[in-house]
Amino acid sequence: MVTSSVVRRPSSVVRPYDPAMDCIFCAIVAGAAPASVVIEDDLTVAFMDISPVNPGHVLVVPKEHATGLGDLPEPTGARMMETAMRIAASIRSGPQQPDGINLFLADGVAAGQEVFHVHLHVVPRHVGDGFRLQVAYGEAPSRAELDEVAKELRSGLRE
Ligand code: 5GP
Ligand code: ZN
Repeated sequence: MVTSSVVRRPSSVVRPYDPAMDCIFCAIVAGAAPASVVIEDDLTVAFMDISPVNPGHVLVVPKEHATGLGDLPEPTGARMMETAMRIAASIRSGPQQPDGINLFLADGVAAGQEVFHVHLHVVPRHVGDGFRLQVAYGEAPSRAELDEVAKELRSGLRE
């Protein structure tokens, strides 16, 4: 069972929680809603998912509200990844003894996002646990088609 505890931080560290934001993860970051925190730093907080795929399922979120990847500063995204990697290593070396780990981020409704404060899932995986993305693969694209899409994406990269 996941236990909950209200986490309190100095008000200088986190901006005051604005209930009008109606964002559960902002409330958790501000200490206004309970969460079982694993680790926090100046940019991110990581806490237990209340509805875990498997025990040890953690969410890494930015302290500053960002709805999705489009409004997440890259350094914060990089820190989220660092935190997720540290947690993954801790899960690997802990009692869960998972067979694998998934890092998963749903950006947008079509991608399965349900909480609109960007978050990176760290999910311990066990053979046969039933968690999967269902994919109906079409015909494999040709190399020329792959090259064309790669070129398109290259031209869209921000500096
Ligand atoms: P998404 O589908 O948006 O990628 O995932 C949202 C995740 O947030 C779900 O795994 C869900 O269990 C988790 N979640 C939703 N509300 C809360 C909450 O109040 N506290 C915590 N710790 N996790 C939550
Ligand atoms: Zn938020």
